[in-house]
Amino acid sequence: MVKNIQAIRGMNDILPDTSRYWVEIERVLRQITLQYGYQEIRLPLLEFTQLFARTIGEATDIVEKEMYTFLDRNGDSLTLRPEGTAGCIRAGIEHGLFYNKVQRLFYCGPMFRHERPQKGRYRQFHQFGVEAYGLAGPDIDAEMMLLAMRFWQELKIDHKVELQINTLGDADSRAKYREHLVKYFNDNQDMLDEDCKRRLLSNPLRILDSKNPALQDLIKSAPKIFDYLDSKAHAHFDGLCKILDQVKLPYVINPRLVRGLDYYCLTVFEWVTTDIGAQNTVCAGGHYDGLVAQMGGKATPAIGFALGLERLLLLVAENLTLPVLDTIYLVLLGDRAVTVGMGLAEKIRKNNNVGVIVNCGGGDLSAQLKRANKSEANMAAILGDAELDSEEILLKYLREDKPQQRIKIENIENFFITK
Ligand code: ATP
Ligand code: MG
Repeated sequence: MVKNIQAIRGMNDILPDTSRYWVEIERVLRQITLQYGYQEIRLPLLEFTQLFARTIGEATDIVEKEMYTFLDRNGDSLTLRPEGTAGCIRAGIEHGLFYNKVQRLFYCGPMFRHERPQKGRYRQFHQFGVEAYGLAGPDIDAEMMLLAMRFWQELKIDHKVELQINTLGDADSRAKYREHLVKYFNDNQDMLDEDCKRRLLSNPLRILDSKNPALQDLIKSAPKIFDYLDSKAHAHFDGLCKILDQVKLPYVINPRLVRGLDYYCLTVFEWVTTDIGAQNTVCAGGHYDGLVAQMGGKATPAIGFALGLERLLLLVAENLTLPVLDTIYLVLLGDRAVTVGMGLAEKIRKNNNVGVIVNCGGGDLSAQLKRANKSEANMAAILGDAELDSEEILLKYLREDKPQQRIKIENIENFFITK
């Protein structure tokens, strides 16, 4: 027997029942982001592997073990994008988008990481990301946080998420901090798990991010970045807190907040929730002021965040009211009705904001009404020989207890406007 081919583990089909929620969430996110003056950029899913290795950092989880990398037919090493920022900057430099200009951009689409699939963590997942170039902050930092807060408010989940912020300082203060952190964890090496021992060598800040309960006390007592900041980083962070206080956007300072990618500096932030289990970061971002120059562009301050749409969906689902489209199921009895009905359906759709599902494949009245009931339609419009002779159409409510009515065919295309 032939074995059915199945989807790749961690890569999900989004079926019609759920895709309706995706469409609505994306609509809300797009609309709000456009209101803040951000414009959409659409980028390729595939890039040269070098792009990610160089920007995200060789010693990060993503580059070390999560990328989908392969040689194409020309022998070039390509990688399915694991995140959006690298491609966004690549495109910005390539097309001169950052040249003496502020750019506010957003992107939306699938990302790929070879991780262990579990609730809220998949191998193909989707991000909505927002990036601003040419602005040093801290005003733009606050704008990003306010923008995210508008998402949560509009999607009615603002009571489920918490904003956490931290600063990573500049490269110098981070290097100084890193030294002390390495010394601290080295002195306590016997307490570390294997993962953290590995991080101690490759990316010691990431130890702060460990979820291992046995390590929490050790991490809590570790040196704090705040004690190593230069005055500029302090001023930036204080400036941000001042704006957030002023606009009354609640936040928590989390000195353990570090990001898994190498390119971050100064402000970093996450929106976390206690609502969806272990994968509790819904949205995460920060400054990456050195990245544009590092990739060969002119030095350009930059900040961005990305939110995971799957995790957002888990939070939003029951709160979301989907817009409903009034829909008519057009029952067509006999060849004459089919010929007239097809054209009539076109006219109704063109002149009204209603859906029209035309019965295809024939069938008698009861078969067609059964299909109508199973469909999304809230009304059936019936057209048979008798109706054609009297130039009328019969309207039947499917979900409400209202009497059916006959109306003139010539009036039908305007009927729904005045209904
Ligand atoms: P985590 O610590 O959860 O692995 P991360 O630091 O790797 O997150 P980012 O690269 O900052 O995550 O991505 C931003 C957001 O994208 C995350 O906060 C999360 O909502 C989402 N995300 C990241 N990886 C996945 C995944 N494998 N599946 C689903 N969503 C994801
Ligand atoms: Mg990750």
